[in-house]
Amino acid sequence: MYAKQTNQTMAATVATASKATVLLAEDNEDNVITLADYLTFKQFHVLVARTGRQCLHIAAASRPDVILMDIQMPEMDGLAAITELRHMPELGDTPIVALTALAMVGDRERCLAAGANAYLSKPVSLRELVSLIEGYVSRRQSAS
Ligand code: MN
Repeated sequence: MYAKQTNQTMAATVATASKATVLLAEDNEDNVITLADYLTFKQFHVLVARTGRQCLHIAAASRPDVILMDIQMPEMDGLAAITELRHMPELGDTPIVALTALAMVGDRERCLAAGANAYLSKPVSLRELVSLIEGYVSRRQSAS
């Protein structure tokens, strides 16, 4: 009985390990649904935060493989959240993809200066987003 439980636990661990976790920080419900549905369909484990502050809490607790960060969010915006994340030792090198609806001059530079690894303007190409995420995940897996 004990051995059987152990085997089941191990199988569950392997299944979880092969499934990368993506933390989606986004306050717009339509975008949450679109992105979370697509990423789940692509076999990612998706966590959702609705504010920058929530993103920090979930990121610290769950150590996601990749973070998708909307820039315009209530309570704490994406740029402030990226800056905070980069000061957290355990999350200092977690890949962050910034997403913004307003493609304003200097947006990309502000996101990268805050510590984002990449920047995509909305509407986001889902295929482009997934290939970006997959690139980060495979790099992290081969590095560890
Ligand atoms: Mn927003």
